[in-house]
Amino acid sequence: MLGVPQLRLAPGTASGEESAPAQPRPHVPGLLDTYGRTATDLRISLTDRCNLRCTYCMPAEGLPFQPASKLMQRDEIVRLARLATGQLGVRQIRFTGGEPLLRKDLVEIIRDVAALDARPEISLTTNAIGLTGRAQALADAGLDRVNVSLDTICPETFAIITRRPFLERVLKGIDALAAAGTRHTKINAVLIPGVNDTHGPDLLEWALAGGHELRFIEQMPLDADHIWDRDVMITAGEIRRRLSERFDLTPDTVARDGAPAELYVVKHRGASVEDPVLGKVGIIASVTEAFCADCRRTRLTAEGGVRSCLFSHVETDLLGPMRAGASDAEVADLWRRAMWAKPSGHSMNSAGFEQPARPMSAIGG
Ligand code: SAM
Ligand code: SF4
Repeated sequence: MLGVPQLRLAPGTASGEESAPAQPRPHVPGLLDTYGRTATDLRISLTDRCNLRCTYCMPAEGLPFQPASKLMQRDEIVRLARLATGQLGVRQIRFTGGEPLLRKDLVEIIRDVAALDARPEISLTTNAIGLTGRAQALADAGLDRVNVSLDTICPETFAIITRRPFLERVLKGIDALAAAGTRHTKINAVLIPGVNDTHGPDLLEWALAGGHELRFIEQMPLDADHIWDRDVMITAGEIRRRLSERFDLTPDTVARDGAPAELYVVKHRGASVEDPVLGKVGIIASVTEAFCADCRRTRLTAEGGVRSCLFSHVETDLLGPMRAGASDAEVADLWRRAMWAKPSGHSMNSAGFEQPARPMSAIGG
């Protein structure tokens, strides 16, 4: 059952402020935290609903989804995006969910955000179902980059992981992106022990052939069924080992610059220096090689709550105060205070780690 995270309320009314840092926040406009990091990368969840049921994310029966009235409306999303880019130093906005393509007004939201004075880079994380008919409109609206989640190119395994037989639709959606002229399409894959853990090389072969950058994401304890098991999860080291059976991987020399993926240049196994580079592959080792010290993320749930970390146990409600008439300055201040209290890291590797009440689909991955 989806839990309700503790809400950090407006100053003076809070019961969830106990984690607020003692040191005073300096008067800087950006989303600074006490460890000196400044968030410039905003993830906005547009819905907690989804048309797939990936085993590492959602339970088979779905979740008690939020009623539409509790979700941020288009004008509220755009207001927060304007605040974030105009006053808080956000430079990149990624729309996610749940499945963001389920929002009927997605094209309009992207068009509005692309028209902001301080236009951010705009990207989308999607399962690509339903993309075929909308890719061109999204590109025309100003969508810059797309990450498509695809864990296997085997139809049977796809149906086992997502609990839906829709691989063909995903592949058509990816083709539609290329036809719409969207550059920089990345493919995100999670490897599940005993299900698709041997599929990495085939998936990489497919991605390289299509000119896509594939990124493997270590499975994190953010599934509603709590199936994650550290002892059997497929680690970054294991992913490198398995890919190396078919490819030569050389660490990329381009600076990572806060990006979560460690990039590798890919050649055929046994290739010489003269042989052509086939492309790049990324590995996001959130669990075993955590990159929290370089984190530049701030997140908004579909109900307008700020989460300073994927693994937060508290959220700061912005939508309630906005609907109650809070000014831009007041909302911006709530957001800054929430980020000032960002923890140093996700603590997945500590003995006392507790999985957040919300699964990935209800946070916005
Ligand atoms: N529905 C969209 C999709 O799947 O791309 C957007 C939301 S989904 C929550 C965003 C990303 O989170 C996907 O790439 C998905 O693979 C990843 N994800 C979900 N649960 C995860 C988990 N437990 N560990 C690691 N990544 C996860
Ligand atoms: Fe849906 Fe994305 Fe979660 Fe899969 S990972 S269930 S597509 S939200």
